[in-house]
Amino acid sequence: ERKQLHRLRREPTRTVDGVDIKLYANAESREDVAEAHSLGSAGIGLYRTEFLFLQRSELPDEEEQFRAYRDVVLGMTGRTVTIRTVDLGADKADRTGLALRDEPNPALGLRGVRLSLARPEVMETQLRALLRASGYGPLRILLPMVSSREEILAVRRHLERVAGELRAEGHMIAEHVQVGAMIEVPAAAIALGSFINDVDFLSIGTNDLVQYLLAADRINEALGELYTPLHPAVVRLMRDVIRLAQARDVPVSVCGEMAGDPAFAPLLLALGLMEFSLHPGTLLELRQTIRRHDLGVLRARAATLLRARDRPAIERWLAACTPAG
Ligand code: PEP
Ligand code: MG
Repeated sequence: ERKQLHRLRREPTRTVDGVDIKLYANAESREDVAEAHSLGSAGIGLYRTEFLFLQRSELPDEEEQFRAYRDVVLGMTGRTVTIRTVDLGADKADRTGLALRDEPNPALGLRGVRLSLARPEVMETQLRALLRASGYGPLRILLPMVSSREEILAVRRHLERVAGELRAEGHMIAEHVQVGAMIEVPAAAIALGSFINDVDFLSIGTNDLVQYLLAADRINEALGELYTPLHPAVVRLMRDVIRLAQARDVPVSVCGEMAGDPAFAPLLLALGLMEFSLHPGTLLELRQTIRRHDLGVLRARAATLLRARDRPAIERWLAACTPAG
């Protein structure tokens, strides 16, 4: 079985009916990037930058960040690299003091792009480092915790400003760097139409989307099965996001843990998802699962999935989709 998986490193992620699905990797270390490359991933779909800010007492400067991002870009040799701006909040106790504050409700507090916009000098340092790394290969910028169009426009203004500065300083940066939004706040999913023209791509963060949509803390084990992507509201909202993105030709992926669990693959494929981003550790397993499914059959069963009224019904739908072999 393991040997068989190993052989899939060089195989396409192609369904039985011949449709290619893109598998990107989630990464946050040099090892992850190397593994993502060797497994034949389409690129990096989510590079978390929090680790650069944790376990230290001073903020990483532009040079250090630039080298880290450039190394990811170089490590992926021309494949797309998606780097997320820092997603710290009062729940992640960084010792630099950036996110450290006493908040009664960190999940609903100053985190992600909100924190970046509240500390423009910190954000501009990160954007400068990202733009400089864009001179070394295809790099896209992903914004976490977006809840409104204004946030995207504000980041774009900062980005334009620092791009002008960098060019004036003689740096080689990409002509156009794509900016995307994480869809993980329900408001962003519901009001996607209001800002879809302002983004180049989307990535659904199911870890947080499920948490906020179901009002169920993602790390509170007492909630048990209340925290689940197999809720009709989650399925329907994801269907809406994927459908609108595709109608507007905006690439959309799922980068939450849900994407990395092969058990959910039929559901995501049925909803029309063509891009997954997951930890490299399960990439080959997911490729194997996708290669056993017929996309046409799954898409034809989407209506049944959307009629499922509860978790058991969604689980039955999934069980009925398990392909032979
Ligand atoms: C998510 O929320 O699904 C996600 C991918 O981001 P994180 O787990 O870093 O919050
Ligand atoms: Mg998240």
